[in-house]
Amino acid sequence: MHAIYIIGDGCAGLSLAARAGDLPDHQLTLVIPEGAPPSQEHIWGFWRLPGLDEAVSLAHQAWATWRVVTEDTSAELASVNHPYHALYRSQWEAYCRKRAEKAGVQFIEQREAIVDPKAQILDSRPSTIPNGQLMQHFIGWEISAEGGTFDPSIATLMDFRCDQSRGIHFIYVLPFSESEALVESTMFSCKREPDDFFETAISTYLQEHHGQHDYTVTRVEKGAIPMGHLRRSSGPAVGLGGNGGAIKPSSGYAFAFIKKQIATAIKSAKKRTHRIKIRPPHKSIDLWMDDVFVNVMKDWPDAAPNLFIRMARGLDGDEFALFLSGEATWPLRLKVIFIMPKWIFIRSFTRRIFGRYTARLKSSA
Ligand SMILES: Cc1cc2nc3c(=O)[nH]c(=O)nc-3n(C[C@H](O)[C@H](O)[C@H](O)COP(=O)(O)OP(=O)(O)OC[C@H]3O[C@@H](n4cnc5c(N)ncnc54)[C@H](O)[C@@H]3O)c2cc1C
Repeated sequence: MHAIYIIGDGCAGLSLAARAGDLPDHQLTLVIPEGAPPSQEHIWGFWRLPGLDEAVSLAHQAWATWRVVTEDTSAELASVNHPYHALYRSQWEAYCRKRAEKAGVQFIEQREAIVDPKAQILDSRPSTIPNGQLMQHFIGWEISAEGGTFDPSIATLMDFRCDQSRGIHFIYVLPFSESEALVESTMFSCKREPDDFFETAISTYLQEHHGQHDYTVTRVEKGAIPMGHLRRSSGPAVGLGGNGGAIKPSSGYAFAFIKKQIATAIKSAKKRTHRIKIRPPHKSIDLWMDDVFVNVMKDWPDAAPNLFIRMARGLDGDEFALFLSGEATWPLRLKVIFIMPKWIFIRSFTRRIFGRYTARLKSSA
């Protein structure tokens, strides 16, 4: 038996542990890390794709229609093949834990170093975020209000009709019924604004776009997800999940990518029957496109609403879901490139190249 220690009982750790039955030649041990912040309930949003059937079946709600809105216009997209799903973290983790226990995974508290020199160690604890990193910062409120407040047939992925004075900012609404929804204020920025900025944005939005000031906040979620390349952990442990390059740089989405990373890792074990290979689940071309996109957002934050609405108007629902889920084909990638305003990407690109060149000149002077 080959020993695998997984450090971290979050999404990636538990999702891999749940698949222990697919690794019959391995003994998996899940190490609950020391010093971890308390786990927080939140919702994972993802589009239905092959490989996500269990998550789909546990999901709280799904929408076949979603929209992107700016001050001037909006785009509505629909997909029967790839509806958008919302899954509670606690629901997924409980399911994975149960499957893992059934498959004989051991759960231990991290008290001392793992000493087995032959064991493979996978580390899903988050890596350090470098200064200047673009982040997705957000606060979400689950709201209970009177009937007729929300339209449960359509999810709002991005609504830019909110305070744009401090950077890229939008509201995300997942309506569970006419009276219940998750309403989130999200910023793509390097610096986090104080909580009251997000809270004011949510309450203003509810007032202005749902005519609502009388509601109860039943749950709060809060987070920060890095956008862009992060250095993978070095040393004997191999990074897994967010720490293994699973977060999509341009969106902060990771749930579906973690499943993809784990499925590939399990296949690699079947071939080699000992160490499993953990790779970032993104194709190099997609990472490159994301990198360019993230740099454009950093350089031209005012352009962000236009970039997202162009994408939403230029693609159909299937294409939009596949592109954002890392399942784009070459024709789809080219379609996205043609939809985007060229000058802004060229200017951002030359700015980077020029910036690098002057930095090199300065360092050699
Ligand atoms: C609030 C929130 C909402 C999100 N929503 C979505 C979404 O809608 N769709 C989507 O695709 N992605 C979403 N993400 C991004 C991503 O899917 C999650 O971050 C996902 O949980 C990453 O899985 P992971 O296993 O890499 O990290 P985690 O699930 O965060 O697990 C990390 C592990 O490391 C431990 N740990 C953390 N910090 C420390 C520390 N300082 N010391 C020791 N141990 C530590 C934790 O206890 C845990 O065991 C969201 C993230 C957050 C935070």
